[in-house]
Amino acid sequence: MDGEQDDAGAPRWIDIGANLTSNQFKGDLNEVIARAEAAGVTRMVVTGTDAAGSAEALKLASSMQGLWCTAGVHPHHASGMSPAVLAELDALTARPEVVAVGECGLDFNRDYSPREDQITAFERQLALGARSGLPMFLHQRDAHDVFLGMLRDAWPDLRAGAVVHCFTEGPREAEDYLDLGCHLGVTGWVCDERRGDALRAAVPSIPGDRLMLETDAPYLLPRTIEPRPATRRNEPMHMAWVGRAVAELRGESIEEVAKRAWITTSAFFDLEASG
Ligand SMILES: [Zn+2]
Repeated sequence: MDGEQDDAGAPRWIDIGANLTSNQFKGDLNEVIARAEAAGVTRMVVTGTDAAGSAEALKLASSMQGLWCTAGVHPHHASGMSPAVLAELDALTARPEVVAVGECGLDFNRDYSPREDQITAFERQLALGARSGLPMFLHQRDAHDVFLGMLRDAWPDLRAGAVVHCFTEGPREAEDYLDLGCHLGVTGWVCDERRGDALRAAVPSIPGDRLMLETDAPYLLPRTIEPRPATRRNEPMHMAWVGRAVAELRGESIEEVAKRAWITTSAFFDLEASG
């Protein structure tokens, strides 16, 4: 199954942020993937967050049609960055199923790794993006100015661009990233009535050719899902709830949003060529 719509015209989705190697999916990953496909989520980019996890993501992506992955070190794991890890990432980016460098960036909200380690690891991975010719899959939390400065410096060498995944901020930050040339990934954060206001204000201003959608499963279960799931674990099958919220904010149909995101995402990650 592939293409923008199935025979009945139901929307097809690409989840650009599926953490399918998470422990939370250990027991029933095949069912999770089957449920996603049944819900029209026929393409997924599996997130790699450290060297071992990226290798695992690649193993999964190479075992199945419709799956690709990223290779990188998340800012939470930045202290684990080393020449050996970087060499592993270099090798991973040579594989056709690996379609982006990341998840990488800066997280000054939780500071699980010291900030100087985060900055070093991010710098190394921006250089890897330039070297590999792959797009960047970026994470930023409470670090907008430092992050934007580093990205701006690296930008001329990032030939395939970058997506700021799980973008949660408002119109001003969106404009900074869009001006630079970035794409933005929108998750179920947009469905959160408690903390999604800034993002909801930004969503209508994102050009369709820069907008991608993601679940960030198993995290960020959309709060609009009805009936409420029995568990808080998010799954890629819930993509349409993100798409619906985005469509409402943009005054577009859910089909339009799905189709546009499909085209944008397939082009950004060059999915027709690889995997
Ligand atoms: Zn993230």
